[in-house]
Amino acid sequence: MDINSIKAQIDSEIGNINSPETLEELRVKYLGRKGLIAQLTGSIPGMPQGERAAFGQEVNALKNKITFLIDEKHMGITGNTTESPLSSVDIGLPGISQELGHLHPITQVTNEICAIFSQMGFAIVEGPEIETEYNNFTGLNIPLEHPSRDVFDTFYLKSPDSPVQLLRSHTSPVQIRVMKSRKPPLAVVVPGRVYRPDAVNVSHSFMFHQIEGFVVDENIKFSDLKGALEVFAKGIFGKKIKMRFRPHFFPFTEPSAEVDISCIICQGKGCSVCGQKGWLEILGSGMIHPNVFKNVGYDSKKYTGFAFGMGVERIAMLKYGIDDIRLFFENDLRFLKQF
Ligand SMILES: [Zn+2]
Repeated sequence: MDINSIKAQIDSEIGNINSPETLEELRVKYLGRKGLIAQLTGSIPGMPQGERAAFGQEVNALKNKITFLIDEKHMGITGNTTESPLSSVDIGLPGISQELGHLHPITQVTNEICAIFSQMGFAIVEGPEIETEYNNFTGLNIPLEHPSRDVFDTFYLKSPDSPVQLLRSHTSPVQIRVMKSRKPPLAVVVPGRVYRPDAVNVSHSFMFHQIEGFVVDENIKFSDLKGALEVFAKGIFGKKIKMRFRPHFFPFTEPSAEVDISCIICQGKGCSVCGQKGWLEILGSGMIHPNVFKNVGYDSKKYTGFAFGMGVERIAMLKYGIDDIRLFFENDLRFLKQF
């Protein structure tokens, strides 16, 4: 029997009691060694670790309530207040308060990042987690032979009908969706879950969160990308950090750059978190490749744009000094309560 039904049952049963004998039977039924409360307590070891503490507190609260009701009834039947256990209880004590929960740290950091881009005029758009192969790869200029298309790097879904479907491996397919359905000027951020068949360890998970961002208009320059990312990085990590752009390759941007910030732990001097380099990689970025514009039907002579993508877990881990990505998904209250 669950907590709520026991609560309802004791409330109705206690009203019918009018002798010390029936009250004792009621006490044994609820509070006895094999009573209903003991059965609830006995079920705790079989519960998931994360639920035990909260459930235990609820059972305790219910036990206290039943004890109180029985003591009160006892006084009512016998008129005897001196022997009641209640005489030694301070009934003026405040009740047991319920703890308020809060947003998960990944949701908090996602909201914080989106808020910074919102202030710069970006719209927030979400897309589906099940995508077509076209939106996830082909539309983004990712060639057929690219290793990310391998079945070891992407979760393909069995679909009898074409087109081939998959769990999106990044949030970038939403670029294709938005560009196909709207016209420039565009300034969009896309938060969401992505999936890759990675073995779970301290830095990898088969599911994690990304935030994608892109801007398309006439005359968008690389300096616009640098400006937007600087506002973002300083908003999240503080005004003192420095940034650098390292040339890199991504199929969907040209030129492309990885972005580092000066290490927030050692301020660039070198420490174990930054591998003695003084810099931490936070995201990938670049100018949207003309082939991507061609694929969505934009005139790449008229429009230019930039795009960037980051892992939310990585940003949260750097911001809060967390060294194990698995902590985010284990639902251990001792971890979650720190945020
Ligand atoms: Zn460092």
